[in-house]
Amino acid sequence: MPYAYDDQNVFARILRGEIPCKKVLETEHSLAFEDIAPKAPHHVLVIPKGPYITYDHFALEASEAEIADFARAIGEVCRALGIRPGEGGGGYRLISNAGADGVQEVPHLHVHILGGRPMGPMLSRP
Ligand code: AMP
Repeated sequence: MPYAYDDQNVFARILRGEIPCKKVLETEHSLAFEDIAPKAPHHVLVIPKGPYITYDHFALEASEAEIADFARAIGEVCRALGIRPGEGGGGYRLISNAGADGVQEVPHLHVHILGGRPMGPMLSRP
């Protein structure tokens, strides 16, 4: 089944400038901004500017330039937030939810960067 991107999702609207965001970083192909409902002292979302729904969609259809830009943008935000392990940073967690089982709310690929406190166990058993 082909990937069907919904361009009315909230992150598409942020990218078009229709709704505001607290920008952390912007690169040629990526945008990072603060999560509106932070789950940790640092909670930043990094999104590609292209119309990709999930990581698997992005990995299949994005250009090498978009993939490199996105990967580097995530690392740059971790460094900018001062959360990278060592030199004072305590570390961080990256999460990218996909689809119903992943409990993805916004159907535009995003990586959550969470830091500033111990994150606890990765998942609890249901
Ligand atoms: P997910 O469940 O992985 O799709 O996460 C979506 C995230 O987007 C949640 O953590 C929301 O708090 C966040 N979010 C939703 N709307 C906005 C917005 N307008 N600006 C920033 N973050 C948002």
